[in-house]
Amino acid sequence: MNRVSQRLARLPGSATMAISARARELVAEGRDVISFGAGEPDFATPEHISAAAARAAHDPANHHYTANAGLRPLREAVAEYTAHYSKVEVDFSQVVITNGAKQAVFQTFAALLDPGDEVLMPSPHWVTYPAGIELAGGVTVLVPTGSDSGFKVTVKDLEAARTERTKLLVFVSPSNPTGTVYTAGEARAIGEWAAENDIWVVADEIYQRLVYFSDIAPSIVSVTPRFENWILINGVAKSYAMTGWRVGWMAGPRDIVEAAERHQSHATSNVANIAQQAALAALTGPQDTVDEMREAFDSRRKLMYSLVSRIPGVTCVEPEGAFYVFPDMTGAMAGRFETSIDLAAAILEDADVAVVPGDSFGAPGYIRLSYAVGKDQIQQGLDRIARLLGA
Ligand code: GLU
Repeated sequence: MNRVSQRLARLPGSATMAISARARELVAEGRDVISFGAGEPDFATPEHISAAAARAAHDPANHHYTANAGLRPLREAVAEYTAHYSKVEVDFSQVVITNGAKQAVFQTFAALLDPGDEVLMPSPHWVTYPAGIELAGGVTVLVPTGSDSGFKVTVKDLEAARTERTKLLVFVSPSNPTGTVYTAGEARAIGEWAAENDIWVVADEIYQRLVYFSDIAPSIVSVTPRFENWILINGVAKSYAMTGWRVGWMAGPRDIVEAAERHQSHATSNVANIAQQAALAALTGPQDTVDEMREAFDSRRKLMYSLVSRIPGVTCVEPEGAFYVFPDMTGAMAGRFETSIDLAAAILEDADVAVVPGDSFGAPGYIRLSYAVGKDQIQQGLDRIARLLGA
């Protein structure tokens, strides 16, 4: 008999988290490592949010379980937030508060997939979706996109990958790792195709407010008329610099959300009460800090994009959203590094810079760099990478 179940023996750990863990280890050993690894804002959580959490921690009313699906005022605030930013009307009863958007991802797949159901995954894709799909018994079907189309998937690509087993499509805009943002027209064409073919859309909108050429990334759900089979995933981590608080959510049709709620009642019960109070303060309080952080990300984006593009042999599509640059390194690797895993290892071990190899996102030859760090670090980190590559 296996010690580790076959399901988990096959499961790779999260590459983004592994890179950050390795970078932390090297820092603990005294190395001056610059981390462009896991995407998390370097800013502190805005003061009014932390203050609300501190007050909540001192109130014994918050020392107990909440409903599994979360505090009702927070679920109501999420419903309002969804109406405002995604332009989608949901009742609070259609919202489950989860332990970060990751738990929403896993519960969504658990609630929707039966063994053998196929999930269309435009690729490059975030490392975690296939893990959630596989654990739910589903099958990930990659739909590759290239830099020539700005990493955008089209209805034609999706139709070519559709089979009778296709149950859902994962749609992420802005995309992690490419920073691609779909226009309302592009999103609508894909939404209409999904609706016509009875395919669910799981829209991960965690980066929806981190866009640099418009105010917000249009939600595929709001731009598609008469669309019913969708789940929206979102959270406070990226826009409010709250990765460590672990508050995300899923919203969608009541029967699916209720199934996810039952799953959560066994798995984790509720998200920490204090963290929920912090999220409530984030959603209902002043929003100017979100705009300030977004402006800072934009100027870091421009700096990192220009420095990366200057390295000989490197080509890069300008990212329009999220906080990642995703360059094609094949020209710079030629004859020296076989894979971007080797390249990322050398960049970390020999140049003291953490980046994530593209292989984990389904894109060998690429690397992902997060620009959610200070400009000095961006400048220094890119100098080090350029030097390693002999530029
Ligand atoms: N989503 C971020 C990233 O891709 C955070 C790390 C993670 O959750 O994988 O880097």
